[in-house]
Amino acid sequence: MKRQAIAIDGPSASGKSTIARLLADRLHMDYLDTGAMYRAITLFALESGVDPENEEEVNRLLDRVEITFNDGDILVNGKVCTREIRTDEVTRAVSPVSSYKKVREKMVDQQRKIAGDRPVILDGRDIGTVVLPDALLKIFLTASPEVRAQRRLKDDKSSSTMDYQALLVSIKKRDDFDSHRAISPLRPAEDAILIDSSDMTIDQVLEKIQGLWEEKQCTL
Ligand code: C5P
Repeated sequence: MKRQAIAIDGPSASGKSTIARLLADRLHMDYLDTGAMYRAITLFALESGVDPENEEEVNRLLDRVEITFNDGDILVNGKVCTREIRTDEVTRAVSPVSSYKKVREKMVDQQRKIAGDRPVILDGRDIGTVVLPDALLKIFLTASPEVRAQRRLKDDKSSSTMDYQALLVSIKKRDDFDSHRAISPLRPAEDAILIDSSDMTIDQVLEKIQGLWEEKQCTL
């Protein structure tokens, strides 16, 4: 039995969260940005003086960190950190932190609890493969690295100070790390529909996914 959920996975800066947020509004569904949760743990590690490359030390923090959401903001132990999770320092450190088994177990458990039984849209790297393998619609959203770097450069939610070349290098590096890690690597689920948005506008991507969602509803 499939669940009323849309899983949107894909590489860094492919527009997943922009699309997922707008789509959730259109379709009256809840939305969860799972990447923000990995960023929040990473921020907490950095602020606690823990080396993000040290798995043992990061694991030890897990009992002391509580991630919550309120009105579009993400909070770490009650403190709003919506902008702080988008800095270059966090972006550089997030891939190793999110490759740790215990970190992923805690996050996936919380993501499933937040999703509950409601109609939801989740975006991330492992939503269709691990978090919600029973999602009715699975999208793998991608775009060329050059297009993604351009989009990130124009993104006002980003707290990055990187220029185009630095963004391009950072995006490629993160994709490579996320795709080659041992646990839940970035990859499309077997039943995911691939959308390359390199030459598409936001509206075109929204229309496409909405159309696919409506088709799925007819098959129920
Ligand atoms: O989506 P965003 O780029 O903010 O995600 C930040 C990082 O969090 C990714 O590069 C990836 O390492 C990790 N992530 C993950 N699994 C998810 C979402 C994000 O490993 N479901």
